[in-house]
Amino acid sequence: MSTALFDLTGHTALVTGSARGIGLALAEGLGAAGATVIVNGRQAASVTTAVEALRAKGIKAEGAAFDVADPAAVEAAFAGFDRDGREIDILVNNAGIQHRQPMLELSLADWQRVIDTNLTAAFLVGREAARRMVARGRGGKIINIGSLTSEAARATVAPYTVAKGGIKMLSRAMAAEWAQFDIQANSIGPGYILTDMNQALVDNPQFDAWVKASNPAKRWGKPEELVGAAIFLASAASNYVNGQIIYVDGGWLAVL
Ligand code: NDP
Repeated sequence: MSTALFDLTGHTALVTGSARGIGLALAEGLGAAGATVIVNGRQAASVTTAVEALRAKGIKAEGAAFDVADPAAVEAAFAGFDRDGREIDILVNNAGIQHRQPMLELSLADWQRVIDTNLTAAFLVGREAARRMVARGRGGKIINIGSLTSEAARATVAPYTVAKGGIKMLSRAMAAEWAQFDIQANSIGPGYILTDMNQALVDNPQFDAWVKASNPAKRWGKPEELVGAAIFLASAASNYVNGQIIYVDGGWLAVL
């Protein structure tokens, strides 16, 4: 088999929330496979730092700081891509936030904030990207980042669970409407991965021990371990794969 199937040379990938963590690892991985990557986050300074770090590794990287949960900001960002001639044909909807609180105490504002950032933003950015993919007539790839909570619930993270369950179905809805335009929309469901989002859990000895005891791999995952699935779903290797979710979780969801 040729590695050309996985070659992303000539493609442009927008990875939302890629100033750090999983998004940054995915941007680096897609860039190393040949894509030009557009780094995103809300803070211009951290986006610039990430772009510089990627360029230092020989990756073609640009930055676009905007809030994916702000519909006007998303539209403005894509108008900017149009002006600059950036034709995004790979989108990774990765930006996300967590909020841990029992549902009995949860405010509507916190519920909404998590749903807006983790689910509605993927629709907003996905819609803008897909409109342009359809108009160009050359297809495209959308990868929505789900979670173990795309499949199973856990106490204290209700809006996150609902949003990530929605992400799995958003990929299917995108596939249902856009497969005819040669757009493939799939999800990746990471297990517990060592990033800033989870630092409080890593620092909690009981939680850390639970992860290591429950996961058949007996360890946390690393951001770079998601890169293989992302390259597959971003490349010609997955041209007839649509509406699926790939769990990259050390086998956790496969066991009792
Ligand atoms: P981090 O908190 O480490 O990074 C999140 C990134 O998203 C940052 O770059 C942040 O930048 C950006 N971001 C947050 N909100 C917005 C916004 N409104 N607009 C633009 N960018 C935003 O998270 P992880 O890397 O851990 O998580 C990445 C994705 O993976 C998320 O969707 C998460 O739910 C998912 N995931 C993570 C798991 C894990 O174990 N870590 C497990 C399963 C899924 P800034 O704050 O500067 O805007």
